[in-house]
Amino acid sequence: MSNEKQAVTDERDSKSSKFRGYRVPLLRFQVNDVCHDGATVVFGAGLNFHELLTDAVIGVLSALYTPETAPTHVRSVTLILRPMDGVAYTTGMDIDDDHKEIHFSTNYMAGVHERSHGTQDKEEILGVIRHEMVHCFQYNAMGTANGGLIEGIADWVRYKAGFIPPHWRDGTAEHWDQGYQNTAYFLLWLEKQYGLATVPRINAWMKKRQYSDELWIELFGEKPEALFRKYKKTFEGSPGGGIQIPTHRDTLEASLSPPSPPAVSPSASVPGNDMADDQSYVEVTKPKQDTDKANDRTVSFFQISEMRLLARDRLFKLTFDGDEDGGAALFFNKFDGLIEVLDPKMTDKERKLLLVTALRKKAADFLSRADPHGRASYDEIRHRFQIAM
Ligand SMILES: [Zn+2]
Repeated sequence: MSNEKQAVTDERDSKSSKFRGYRVPLLRFQVNDVCHDGATVVFGAGLNFHELLTDAVIGVLSALYTPETAPTHVRSVTLILRPMDGVAYTTGMDIDDDHKEIHFSTNYMAGVHERSHGTQDKEEILGVIRHEMVHCFQYNAMGTANGGLIEGIADWVRYKAGFIPPHWRDGTAEHWDQGYQNTAYFLLWLEKQYGLATVPRINAWMKKRQYSDELWIELFGEKPEALFRKYKKTFEGSPGGGIQIPTHRDTLEASLSPPSPPAVSPSASVPGNDMADDQSYVEVTKPKQDTDKANDRTVSFFQISEMRLLARDRLFKLTFDGDEDGGAALFFNKFDGLIEVLDPKMTDKERKLLLVTALRKKAADFLSRADPHGRASYDEIRHRFQIAM
């Protein structure tokens, strides 16, 4: 490295990597197809990406931490704009933990632009990136956290930042861990009862512990279901059952109904061995529940896509060599949890195939001894591992 280049790097480290006491990691921006319609939308939104990404990091860190408690292990965050299904997802949550990648769909942004006639572009970019940035820095109970809670915290931060999509409604959730804005509104209510440190405390609890109801009992004295019933009670008898007074932004709601299945054009392939481009596992056309309300369909579409993309990514990176902390029990807990999100109806054969690709060293040797002819069922194999490791 030349002296001149070194000097520039030093300046950046000393002058611009700390803001308001929070350390900002290296921020990178990668565009995989600059000619894509959605990339044009993002470039045309009038955003300064240095400010946008720095604000997102500082916004997330200051929402969840103090400068003293903020995690410092994240060395880089890369925003990758690329054609893909779904909206966005973040990788590197517990493997490659130092380097995070936010994958953001240009197909999705092209759709937002079309449906909102350009009026929601900027807000949506800011909101999606703020949400994903939370995943870069939040704790997840060592990979065991309730997925709805993780997504709820991300949208709680997004709400606090003021990037509130027109279809969000308080009081419509049916379960506390429905995720996204549903859980975010529950967290906002909880915050009103227990103070501004509520969500930071929930996040901090998940730093070094495995997830359980103990979190809620320790912090709030009750199980989440009981707290959620109290929250729901506040909407009883109110006209519209918690539906907020319409704002001028609601006129957009109809036009933000479910995105059509993203068309993956031949030009959408991305260089490199990016397995996330494999479309096979991701359901994009059929939302989980049928419902009359267009906005609910939109919400379940987002939830399914993001959680599945993330689950697939994490499943591909999950390995077990037989010597990890937590042993086979923790590994299978994670493995089964990811499959549950990805495809609960996965066949025994497919499960075994994925398991084989995850095993290393001692664990791989054990499998070849425990099931030499490949005839044992997945459940039998798991049982043998849990006894042995
Ligand atoms: Zn998320």
